Amino acid sequence: KVHDYQAPADLLAGKTILVTGAGEGIGRQAALSFAQHGATVILLGRTTAKLEAVYDEIEAAGYAQAAIVPLDLKGATARHYKDMASTIENQFGHLDGVLHNAGILSILSPFSHIEENDWNDALQINVTGPMLMTQALMPVLEKAPSASVVFTSSGVGRKGRAYWGSYAVSKFATEGLAQVIADEYETTSVRTNVINPGATRTKMRSKAYPAEDPKTLKTALDIMPTYLYLMGDDSKNENNLCFDAQ
Ligand code: NDP
Repeated sequence: KVHDYQAPADLLAGKTILVTGAGEGIGRQAALSFAQHGATVILLGRTTAKLEAVYDEIEAAGYAQAAIVPLDLKGATARHYKDMASTIENQFGHLDGVLHNAGILSILSPFSHIEENDWNDALQINVTGPMLMTQALMPVLEKAPSASVVFTSSGVGRKGRAYWGSYAVSKFATEGLAQVIADEYETTSVRTNVINPGATRTKMRSKAYPAEDPKTLKTALDIMPTYLYLMGDDSKNENNLCFDAQ
């Protein structure tokens, strides 16, 4: 079972991995776990102070030095992603993995109350940004001996649910996007898969379920085996699959 995967200590040694939404929640933990297993992590997110705190934690632990990319997926254009890809290519030569983790819940509301701006933000941040980013990064991912692209879905990315509006639709779109890329790049060195984290103790989860006791939930650390498996070479032959992290 992948969610019981035991990652070797040096699983990601020598690999460079980009994590979006690395400042908090699941993305922060993934960045720390990837670094702990030897990766050089590129921390992307919208709040620089949070990225710096993760950078400092990585440094204090003695892991490979991280890099910081402050970027708001809401306003970023294809140009920003192309510039970012060039910077990564110049600095590292190639990229071994991308974890598309950043996302917003937007507003949970009855369908009749969905506002155009909130809808557009959810689609922009959760789908369009990751699409443009992947497009820009493909050449530098193809320079790696074996590269892993991981998208993040949700239970509502498989089956729609009342009041989950734009978030649910953005996660359906994420799964569709991942399948298109996975199919198209099937014969290349770039594999593409999806993770459904399951209920996890983060800020987003408590926004969605304010009355829930967070202590009843798995932590971000608990779900890391699936994330490590998909970033390391043990998953080299996996493509176009969706993994439940719990
Ligand atoms: P959090 O809200 O705790 O963290 C989300 C991260 O994404 C934050 O670091 C945030 O940055 C970043 N982010 C949000 N918007 C942007 C943006 N416009 N540009 C750049 N970065 C941005 O969420 P989780 O850790 O809970 O969720 C991570 C992923 O897992 C999401 O894709 C979510 O949909 C998915 N997921 C989570 C579940 C759960 O139970 N927690 C269940 C199913 C799926 P900042 O801190 O600066 O706002």
